[in-house]
Amino acid sequence: METPKMETIKSLESKVRSYSRSFPTVFTKSKGHKMWDEEGNEYIDFFSGAGALNYGHNNDVMKSELVDYISNDGVTHSLDMATEKRAEFLQTLNDVILKPRNLDYRVMFPGPTGTNTVESALKLARKYTGRTDIISFTNGFHGMTIGSLSVTGNAAKRNGAGIPLTNVVHMPYDDFMDGKTDTLDYLEQFLENGGSGVDIPAGIILETVQGEGGINAARFEWLQRVEDICKRWGILLIVDDVQAGIGRTGTFFSFEEAGITPDVVCLSKSLSGYGSPLAITLFRPELDIWGPGEHNGTFRGNNHAFVTATAALNHYWKDNAFEQSIKKKSKRTHEFLQELTKKYPEMKGTVCGRGLMVGISSEVEGFSEKVAEESFNKGLVMETAGPDDEVFKLFPPLTIDEEGLEKGLSIIEESIKKLVK
Ligand code: PMP
Repeated sequence: METPKMETIKSLESKVRSYSRSFPTVFTKSKGHKMWDEEGNEYIDFFSGAGALNYGHNNDVMKSELVDYISNDGVTHSLDMATEKRAEFLQTLNDVILKPRNLDYRVMFPGPTGTNTVESALKLARKYTGRTDIISFTNGFHGMTIGSLSVTGNAAKRNGAGIPLTNVVHMPYDDFMDGKTDTLDYLEQFLENGGSGVDIPAGIILETVQGEGGINAARFEWLQRVEDICKRWGILLIVDDVQAGIGRTGTFFSFEEAGITPDVVCLSKSLSGYGSPLAITLFRPELDIWGPGEHNGTFRGNNHAFVTATAALNHYWKDNAFEQSIKKKSKRTHEFLQELTKKYPEMKGTVCGRGLMVGISSEVEGFSEKVAEESFNKGLVMETAGPDDEVFKLFPPLTIDEEGLEKGLSIIEESIKKLVK
């Protein structure tokens, strides 16, 4: 079949309600950190499928396992039935990820996507504690179904539901008050004082680095304090690692360096390693109160995703070489961006983020969007983040080589140079 041309695509897309922004081309091929369009133009990918392609496009390690598996007529979809590949995935997750980190978690397959794992975490917190409220944070993003949307700290997105959503208290995230007020002091006061109107919640949900909300990285001390508050009041700490997890911040889980152990962890996006939908919810064994069928969904037995997820864990996470390479690239990227903020003060930029989840937040209205647009014209795919799209967000595949990273960084600099002239 011939590749549809841009005109046809525009007409088809005009009747589709999905993504809010489109890149004005038709992509036909992708490999590693590169993408190509129908005219053969090459792009560096600093978007990585919003974090679903941390290992790059069509990664050879996962691809060859998948091709073998398909060629041998391996089971494709199996709901909750036991399969060899599901067992291998569970075993590898335990041996390569959980055990070496001393993490004792049960695993649940909540459905295929990020929002499914968040829903299951919220339900678990309510069911386990017998309480209803959840505390979440300003600028947090947790998904688009009603539960996960309720805890999303973006009113414009919540308004999409058309009706007010309930049982959520949105607290200011770390540094939301520009360092002037430690909002956890308020939270503690609320919880201590029954008359505050804030009931003890079932759970607190957070991202350690907020992705969609503007690449805001919480301080480790702040995260530790949230954990402490949760322990003292018997509140479940839910870390939504859908975007910040799977190596994005430099370690497999984004909370490792903060030294905290959440009660519940949500993972999806790059978990399958190859861009196929796969999600899991991890929770402490004491929280294992689900009855059979109490939380289910059809697409939880994607064996292709199990095959590639297992290959990714085995290949990248058995020792710390991958982590070190991510940290090296992160350091280079952060230093480069710091330099840019000094060289181009006109953009009034501040570097934000942690690991390869990094960006520049510009105080100049519309500037970050223009940087993303101009970068695209120069061959770089990059997104913006934050409630006003004030951040341009660097999200390269973690596997990107030095040449690709440098090329992407120099495109960003060229774009800024052109815009501040
Ligand atoms: N949590 C976080 C932190 C996310 O970034 C996202 C998606 N951007 C989700 C949950 C929802 O994931 P999905 O789009 O797969 O439902």
